[in-house]
This record gives sequence, C-alpha cells and structure tokens, in this order.
Amino acid sequence: MTDSFNPVISRRLMLRHIAVAAGAVASLPLLARPALARADAAPASGTAAKSALQYQDHPKGTSACANCANYIPGKDPKADGRCIIVAGDISPKGWCLAYAGNG
Ligand code: SF4
Repeated sequence: MTDSFNPVISRRLMLRHIAVAAGAVASLPLLARPALARADAAPASGTAAKSALQYQDHPKGTSACANCANYIPGKDPKADGRCIIVAGDISPKGWCLAYAGNG
C-alpha cells in the first residue's frame, strides 16, 4: 500500500509539507537581505564640486578616473560614471586633485 491510502501517514505527510513550505516562506526575507546589503554598501556619489578639485574631463598623463579608486564605473567602459568624492557625471577619462590610483 502507498501512503495515500493511510489517513494517518497522509496527515503526517501533509503536516511535513506545510512545515517545509512555511520554512521556505519564512526564509525569503533572509535570502533577500544580502542583495539589499550590497545595494546599501554601494558608495554614493560624492558632493564635492568639480571646480573645487580642479576636475577636468581629460586625463593627466596616465592618471584618469577609470583607474582611480574613487571611480564608480558607468554602464560600459566609455560611459560616464560617478565618483565617491566629486559630484555629477564623471568621465572615465577625467581627472581631479583627489585622484587615487597608481597611474
Ligand atoms: S580622479 Fe577625481 S573625479 Fe576622477 S574618480 Fe578619482 S577622485 Fe573622482
């Protein structure tokens, strides 16, 4: 005989399935939390004025925003990105006094 013909076992199986489903539903917020934490951890765009840090939209020698530790890349390598120090759109080819890189 299978379990489906035994009402006691069927009830036990049903309760087990309910417990598993309840556990899965209860864990959904925990699964979503790392994604939210990553979003929270993303650095915000900076607030310093470009002029205050002598931002320019072209590199200074081999130093450019694209290889600066403060740079937040845009959608693709050629698109403007953001900077955690300087406000506004930042060219990957730009540069400013706060440059932090090894180029
Ligand atoms: S060079 Fe200046 S503007 Fe460019 S990413 Fe670095 S700190 Fe920001």
